[in-house]
Amino acid sequence: LDVAARIANLLGAHNKASVVHAVDDVSLDIPAGEVIGVVGESGCGKSTLGRIIAGINPPSAGELRYLGKTTAEMTHAERRAFNLGVQMIFQNPMASLNPRMRVLDIIGEAPVVHGIVPAAQKAAYVAGLMRQVGLDPDYAQRYPHQFSGGQRQRIGIARALALKPRLIVCDEAVAALDVSIQAQVLNLFTALRREFDLTYLFISHNLGVVGHIADRVAVMYLGRVVEMAPTDTVFSRPSHPYTQALLSELPRLDTARRAYQPIKGELPSPLAPPPGCTFHPRCPHAMPRCKSEAPLLRTLGPGHASACHLNDAPA
Ligand code: SF4
Ligand code: MG
Repeated sequence: LDVAARIANLLGAHNKASVVHAVDDVSLDIPAGEVIGVVGESGCGKSTLGRIIAGINPPSAGELRYLGKTTAEMTHAERRAFNLGVQMIFQNPMASLNPRMRVLDIIGEAPVVHGIVPAAQKAAYVAGLMRQVGLDPDYAQRYPHQFSGGQRQRIGIARALALKPRLIVCDEAVAALDVSIQAQVLNLFTALRREFDLTYLFISHNLGVVGHIADRVAVMYLGRVVEMAPTDTVFSRPSHPYTQALLSELPRLDTARRAYQPIKGELPSPLAPPPGCTFHPRCPHAMPRCKSEAPLLRTLGPGHASACHLNDAPA
């Protein structure tokens, strides 16, 4: 799946009127201090989007701007600020932590290399970070396998924080954890956000998890954003049938949600997406035109847009 981000304006000025402005492709502004949730089934392109925003993959087309500049426009110093300023946290902390490195080095090596902290202060710096993520600094000499899954994810968070990022891209950052641990780690993310003035792009297949932490939610389906809205709106007035289906699958069903139908069928191959509205084979509201005509993303209200023919005023 290579169509992920045409334009992503990271930490740009928040212009509420233009939160969503692309028709065909993902267009995402991530204003400083906000938590943007990205939700969708596995294979919908959300990880690709996260990797583009984190600078790991280049955008297949269009541009990525960080503090107003594309990577091509950045000076050497600005490029460095982008590389350090956007960090990523992954789903599986065991796979992303070097098993042969002590926590002291996992967290402390990069900030020393990048001159964020002098080598002489590394141990104290790491101890401070470990405390901030709820780990006992006495464990700095231990290896990743000596920690629980939740603790390992805290190590991953401390490693990201060590580089003093402005934006952290979290890709399924709590998906591998037990539900009780998930809540603790989500609370940690929320506390760190305040403490470090962080911005998050929080990617998850679980709308419940995203709803916990995000200010705004982008719902992705087969490489496109099909709905974007403030989190409250997603839960109280979801517009897109796909968003409604995701909502209907949450365990805590109230009457309003029970009115929506759960999703049926399998996600089609992103390599051969269905014509028209790519959701039409699974949509309970599909109309004849949905099979041939792709719906445009339309603004429905402040910060709220959705791509569905049901939004069109009746002729
Ligand atoms: Fe369903 Fe048609 Fe809307 Fe697509 S455009 S979500 S198929 S009603
Ligand atoms: Mg993924």
